[in-house]
This record gives sequence, structure tokens and C-alpha cells, in this order.
Amino acid sequence: MNIILLGPPGAGKGTQAAILVEKRGMVQLSTGDMLREARTSGTEMGQKVAAIMDAGELVTDEIVIGLIEEKLRADEGNGFIFDGFPRTLAQADALEDLLKDFGQSLDCVIEMQVNDEILVDRIVGRAEEARKAGQPVRADDNEESLKIRLMEYYKKTSPLIGYYFAKGTLRSVNGLGEIDEVASEIQSVLG
Ligand code: AMP
Repeated sequence: MNIILLGPPGAGKGTQAAILVEKRGMVQLSTGDMLREARTSGTEMGQKVAAIMDAGELVTDEIVIGLIEEKLRADEGNGFIFDGFPRTLAQADALEDLLKDFGQSLDCVIEMQVNDEILVDRIVGRAEEARKAGQPVRADDNEESLKIRLMEYYKKTSPLIGYYFAKGTLRSVNGLGEIDEVASEIQSVLG
């Protein structure tokens, strides 16, 4: 089973993806994590995207599609969870083509519904928690970058909700509950 977790920054996609990995042995493909890894390892691509990510803007479709293609080629898991990908209609089309090439298909798109006010609190909270625990704070977890990230989401990513609705693959869950409540809602959607 291949699924997409769709939602704005702070909706809880990463948290729920990790639970699905544990419960269902699925493989999480987070383009955000891949890009951060490229930065840490100091690749040319990593250096190129650093400033764009820190500002909260989207990196080019070409880069993230390339990253996903590499993973689809390499991994053979119990289905993929696309987390933070696709974020544009062009990426959605590319994903469909890629899955077809690999003899796979997309089973379900889970939209995590939250209200906008909670997102800022969650992300600022995430930064504070990391700081307290002595962990590195994401450079884009600040209010200024967050504003841009939200704008990018509503402008470029939220049209995917209508697109997948029209394709009949969209399922929506309430992302406002406790982590385990959201997790069980996702479990029942996936059956
Ligand atoms: P995330 O960890 O998913 O919040 O992603 C962090 C940042 O990485 C985003 O703000 C973008 O700059 C970049 N990024 C991650 N995934 C994508 C994507 N699918 N398309 C474009 N940019 C992305």
C-alpha cells in the first residue's frame, strides 16, 4: 500500500508517518529529511537548497522528484508513506508516472486537517522543546520562515486536496486530536 500524508507544516505528518512505520512496516519517504541529510553531508545539492529551505520556500520540483525516484528504485518495503511530497501539482503528476514505472500505484491520500492557528503554536513549541532537550532546532522553525511556509502550502500544495478528491483517493482525518487519536483514525481509514 502506498499513501501520501498531506497537510500544512505542523499538521503532524512526520509523527504519524513514524507510527505507520512502526505499526505496518511501511517505508517513510520524507523529502524534508532527505534534503536536510543532503545539507548535513555537504553535497553540492545540499548547499544549493540550504538558503531556500531556511527561508521556508519550496525547492525545485526537479530536485525532490530526483530524490524520490532514487528511493523508489532502492527501497523495497511494505509500501511507501510519502511525507511532505508531493507539494505541487507537477510533483503529483511525476509521482504518478514514477509509481507506474515501478509497477506500483497510489492507494490513498490522507489529508490531515488542522486549523491554522494551531500550526504556529505547534511549530514554535517544537523549536522550544528541541532547545530544552539540547537538540538542534530546525532553522526554518521560526515565525518568519513559518509565514512563508504556510503561504507556500496554501498557494502551491493545498490545490492537491481538490486534485486527489477528484481522483477519488482523498481521505480526511482530524489532525487536531491527541497523537494516538489521530493514529487510530488513520488506521481505520487504511483498514
Ligand atoms: P519538511 O521537513 O517537509 O517541512 O520540509 C522542509 C523544507 O524542505 C520545506 O520547507 C522545503 O524548503 C523543502 N521541501 C521538502 N519537501 C519538499 C517538496 N516536496 N518540494 C519542495 N520543497 C520541499
